[in-house]
Amino acid sequence: MIPTPRSDLGVSKGYHSSQIDVRIRLNTNESPFPPPAELLERWSELVTKLPLNRYPDRHAIELCKDIARFHNVSSDMVFVANGSNEVLLNLLLSYGGKGAKALSFEPTYAMYETISRMTSTSYVALERDADFLIEARDLLQRVDEVDPEVIFLCQPNNPTGIIESDEILDILTDRGKSLIVVDEAYGQFCQESSIGRVNENENLVVVRTFSKIWALAGMRIGYCIANKEIIDVLWNVTLPYHLDMSKALLASLSFDYVPEMETRVSMLIHERERVSKELAVLGFTVWPSGTNFVLFRPNGVDGSKLWHRLVQEGILIRDWTSWPRLDNCLRVTIGTEYENDQFLAALSNVF
Ligand code: PMP
Repeated sequence: MIPTPRSDLGVSKGYHSSQIDVRIRLNTNESPFPPPAELLERWSELVTKLPLNRYPDRHAIELCKDIARFHNVSSDMVFVANGSNEVLLNLLLSYGGKGAKALSFEPTYAMYETISRMTSTSYVALERDADFLIEARDLLQRVDEVDPEVIFLCQPNNPTGIIESDEILDILTDRGKSLIVVDEAYGQFCQESSIGRVNENENLVVVRTFSKIWALAGMRIGYCIANKEIIDVLWNVTLPYHLDMSKALLASLSFDYVPEMETRVSMLIHERERVSKELAVLGFTVWPSGTNFVLFRPNGVDGSKLWHRLVQEGILIRDWTSWPRLDNCLRVTIGTEYENDQFLAALSNVF
């Protein structure tokens, strides 16, 4: 007989974006550009010299030093894992669990709820307003009523793209309670960061990833920056040697290519503004984005049908139409100029 899995896992199939074979893939917010060729050449040369018969450094010390230098913090304030999803998992394994509550502001990144369920943490969703912003007016009261162990703030937010004001961060951090997790997966696209607040807020954790503008989604590398005491706990709950040598090396070498990364950020921001304008010209509702994607509502058109028609044209975007609070909404990742042109052309064709 096949044993029954834990009952509190639920029946959800989890968080999955379609992986359909199409000519243009604009659905999972990755970088449309590969990593710099020179970086890959250097890495492939050095990777052959790694002592692969040995376990890697348990605390990925060299990579933590490089991340710390990049953000101007000390290296004992850095924890690294296999993608920022794993960082989120470790945070809830450490600070969530049975009897604990995690809170977030919906609509937001679906993994906060999924990982809460995986770790037996109760998940509580507070609503954003009609413009997908968090209301400052009664925020303190609403959070106090829940009194969560962990608060997730996706900044800028996925899937809406919206940047929350400093006022919201001030209210949450001034409260001085809960573990506050600011997820900056898209932080480079809005040029703002809460990393500067970590030193004066001992309960603040800022999460980042190499999956977006660093163009390493396939390698699975993410990290967080927080007070040393929190970081020590995260290292203690992670599996031994969880980060392999080859990815730690690649991530470290990436920091030699900051100018290239910044050029790609500027190109994508420029393209994001162009795509947003074009979508608005079509009469769609478009939300202002501080990320590498744009959420839009194709007014007067069935979003789900539009999504299917775009797939027939070989263009894959993300269908949010059936998600709570995202009625008829679609999200397009910003690609290269060519990919964006193809998306816009297909959209006008279908229209
Ligand atoms: N946080 C947010 C808000 C994201 O959108 C994503 C990826 N879609 C992640 C975290 C996870 O990224 P990764 O595990 O690839 O680092």
